[in-house]
Amino acid sequence: MDRPAAKPEMVDPFGRTVSYLRVSVTDRCDFRCVYCMSEHMNFLPKADLLTLEELDRLCTAFIAKGVRKLRLTGGEPLVRRDVMVLIRALGRHLETGALDELTLTTNGSQLARYADDLFAAGIRRINVSIDTLDEARFQEITRWGRLPQVLDGVAAAKRAGLKVKINTVALKGVNEAEIPSLIEWAHGEGHDLTLIETMPMGDIDGDRTDQYLPLSEVRRALSARWTLDDLAERTGGPARYVRVKETGGKLGFITPLTHNFCESCNRVRLTCTGKLYMCLGQEDAADLRAPLRASASNDLLHAAIDEAIGRKPKGHDFVIDRASNRPAVPRHMSLTGG
Ligand code: SAM
Ligand code: SF4
Repeated sequence: MDRPAAKPEMVDPFGRTVSYLRVSVTDRCDFRCVYCMSEHMNFLPKADLLTLEELDRLCTAFIAKGVRKLRLTGGEPLVRRDVMVLIRALGRHLETGALDELTLTTNGSQLARYADDLFAAGIRRINVSIDTLDEARFQEITRWGRLPQVLDGVAAAKRAGLKVKINTVALKGVNEAEIPSLIEWAHGEGHDLTLIETMPMGDIDGDRTDQYLPLSEVRRALSARWTLDDLAERTGGPARYVRVKETGGKLGFITPLTHNFCESCNRVRLTCTGKLYMCLGQEDAADLRAPLRASASNDLLHAAIDEAIGRKPKGHDFVIDRASNRPAVPRHMSLTGG
């Protein structure tokens, strides 16, 4: 009997084409950012992780089904052992033209070591997370991170030819006053910068309602200082972009707590254990590890992916519950990688 051919495109029940896969290659990290993890995180047992070969097979299945952009994240993707083996393997899809872009979100701690290899594997743009340029504050926010190491990494990335975008989580009373100087620094170095609102995900040690800083407020303050020209460009994600006339650089605002981006959502997220999350803000996930391991052929896997895309929800429902201060989504960002 003929096997049903894999669908070339993944279209969800709301007519959205899924073309962007974010893959968390590890839940582990060498930092402990206050908004992301508790200092004493329990990580997944290593035995639960998909192997690099399995991650490659899964990503390749998604590419066969229409994914054009793939972002590796974590945890910290560059602390996974032999991660370059995976990155180089995925780079072959850039050469064949099956994939438009392979990219990475990183805390930058290992970049000095990997920048040239990343470029050689076909990566051209990366996101590096930096919330402050003050060394002491950097340590307060990341707990275990060292700013000079990250800045060396960013410089190495630039030298290697990688286009760097800086991601900055806006934290009330923490880096709030420093946001203009961070933008000036990034734009002066030729990097775009995107501000991110804190999302209520996972248990952390502190009080999240204290950290929450609405980007509408930040934007208002920045508008008093600079001319912000709206850019039409949309990524299918929760980011809006402006050009800062005075610096010439691009500035993004990611406001995940608003709903206005869900209708154009083109992405799904895969964890390092093979769970597929169809929405960052919802608990529903599909297990792809079982169909992956059940057979050497990809038929079961393709069917499981189709079934999962068929239940991609219309939108999310983030709230920071001010009464209980419990996260609306109990899993950590380090599992799905943001
Ligand atoms: N470790 C890498 C890094 O920090 O870039 C990749 C994973 S990290 C989870 C991805 C992004 O999510 C980072 O830019 C980080 O600042 C952001 N992030 C983590 N927890 C968050 C939260 N609760 N709210 C908003 N952004 C968060
Ligand atoms: Fe690690 Fe990134 Fe989470 Fe910070 S935000 S703890 S660097 S995974």
